[in-house]
Amino acid sequence: MVFFFSCAAAMAFPPAPHYTLYGIVRDQVGQRVTAEGAEVVLLRGSAEIGRIVDKEGWPMKTALREIAEIHTGDFRLTPSQNLSISGVTAEQKPHIEAILAKHGLDKENDRSGLRLNALSRVALPTCGLALAESERALPETLEKFEAVLDENGLRHDAISIRITGCPNGCARPYLGEIGFVGKAPNKYALYLGARYDGTRLNRLFSPSTTIDGAVEMLRPIIKRYALERQSGEGFGDFCDRVILPADATFHSVGTPVAA
Ligand code: SF4
Repeated sequence: MVFFFSCAAAMAFPPAPHYTLYGIVRDQVGQRVTAEGAEVVLLRGSAEIGRIVDKEGWPMKTALREIAEIHTGDFRLTPSQNLSISGVTAEQKPHIEAILAKHGLDKENDRSGLRLNALSRVALPTCGLALAESERALPETLEKFEAVLDENGLRHDAISIRITGCPNGCARPYLGEIGFVGKAPNKYALYLGARYDGTRLNRLFSPSTTIDGAVEMLRPIIKRYALERQSGEGFGDFCDRVILPADATFHSVGTPVAA
């Protein structure tokens, strides 16, 4: 039996958009009230990467277990490695806040904009594909960049930094305003220029550098960003407009721009 169908009928549908923007790309860290009137307390999943563990001075797992015993709403994990305690009732709220305070976790969201937007993946020693450190390199990396941001009054600017142990890019480094992709022990390809909302990929800035080398390369760029950025311009947009050569691509650093 032979079936026929009409292409004209199939093409009557408009092509689907290749992506949808939801309007919110940044987790609203802190406390807020949703459209349904429920309280949400959003926490970083951990100090740097979305792990719920107990560490010395940071008993997040214990605190969440205590909250779970009284909380009647949801726990939601976000794509940005944050945790949302959602649907908190007015009666539960002071108890949940007291649990967080008891464990010293009530200031978890009072962190630099860079740290609140940082993502990494496990890499070494967990992932057999890792070529470089990622999760274990992130804390020190953040400290070094935070010092540079502090020097330039940018502590609370939301800048996305992402680091992965290999080009598979599980933490989506190609959408980071600063993206590190592991190539070898302590060697990373450095990418700049993605748009914060994820609608533009970054481009190669250095094919191979150490973290310390990247800090030194970006120090003058961060300073220029603080002094020369346009109103509301994100770090990725600034790098795309001013820093990256026009012919830089995902694979090539392009022709250097005169300073
Ligand atoms: S980015 Fe690579 S090294 Fe990191 S978790 Fe994914 S596959 Fe493993």
